[in-house]
Parts: sequence; C-alpha cells; structure tokens
Amino acid sequence: MKCFNHLEREAVATCQKCGKGLCKACAEKHTPCLCDACAAQIQRNQQQQAQNREAQRKQKYKNALIDTRSEFIVTAVLGVLVGILFVWQETTHENVDTSFIGYAELFFGGFCIPFGWKFLTYLQSFFPVSLFGTFWFWFIYLAVKVFLSILVGIPAFLYQLVKVILTQSKINKLNHPLLLRAHTVEKE
Ligand SMILES: [Zn+2]
Ligand SMILES: [Zn+2]
Repeated sequence: MKCFNHLEREAVATCQKCGKGLCKACAEKHTPCLCDACAAQIQRNQQQQAQNREAQRKQKYKNALIDTRSEFIVTAVLGVLVGILFVWQETTHENVDTSFIGYAELFFGGFCIPFGWKFLTYLQSFFPVSLFGTFWFWFIYLAVKVFLSILVGIPAFLYQLVKVILTQSKINKLNHPLLLRAHTVEKE
C-alpha cells in the first residue's frame, strides 16, 4: 500500500479511523496515528464539545440567577399580602386615628417580614439540626421566628433588594450578545 498523501512512498502505517495508508513522515504527524482529515475532524468534534459544555455551564448560571429573581418576587408578593393584612387589621380597631404615614409604616413593616423569615431560614441552613417537638414546641418556635423576622425584616429586605438588582444586571449582561463574550473572558 502507498501513502495516501505521497503516492511515491510506501505506507508504514494506516489511519486508525479511516484506514488510509500513511508513510513514516505522515504517520508521525498525529498521535494517535491519524491522517490529516481525520485528525482535523476529531479536533473539530472536541472543540464543539467544549463549546457545548460552555453553553451548558452558562445556561446553568443563568437559571440560578433567574431562580434568585423568582424567589425575590415570591417573597415580595407574600410581603404585600402580610402588609395588607397588617393595614386591614389596624382598620378593624375602633376609635383609632392612624395617619397615612402610620399605615405606610405598618404596611412596610409587614412587607419586610417574609424577607426576615427568608433570611433566618438561610441562617438556619448553617446549623443543620433537625428539630423535633410537641405542638407547643412548634408553636413557640414559630412565634420566636416570626418575632425575629420582624426585627431583621427591614435590613433583610434591603439586602435582598440590592442582591436582586445585581442579579438582574447579570441577567441583562448574559442576554446581551456583545457583553456575553466579555463575561466569558472575565470568568476564565
Ligand atoms: Zn483518516
Ligand atoms: Zn506521506
């Protein structure tokens, strides 16, 4: 058999993929022993796979950002409900003359409670202790957690607000085709 590239030379090996004859010089070009066409194709496949992995990684990152944003929206909706509940509760009292500012403070205080709750739940994740107890244990546990949620509500809300704004700007960057490259480079 002759070399596929050099018809005047005797083949000493064959391409492991397509079986074409290769002379000594051609056989030594690629490891494992491949002809130029097969080596190029394998390289293209590898590049394609690397690109797919990168695209998957990016999609995963984007999904995580979108999850963070969705969580914030759900917490805010709960907050609005709690705020309305607080304001409604106040209006049911007789002979109270609550000012608009008073209602606004009540609403905001209520609005922040789910954010405080979420923050406490996040802190609890660092102490993986499983709790068991009676009804009264759970009642006290929940009461304490609600109380602490009120205390940490406003800073917890502000923290999560800043976080979601940063998250949204990251999502915007990912959606922007030109900045997408900059982001990839920055990651590496
Ligand atoms: Zn080949
Ligand atoms: Zn050759």
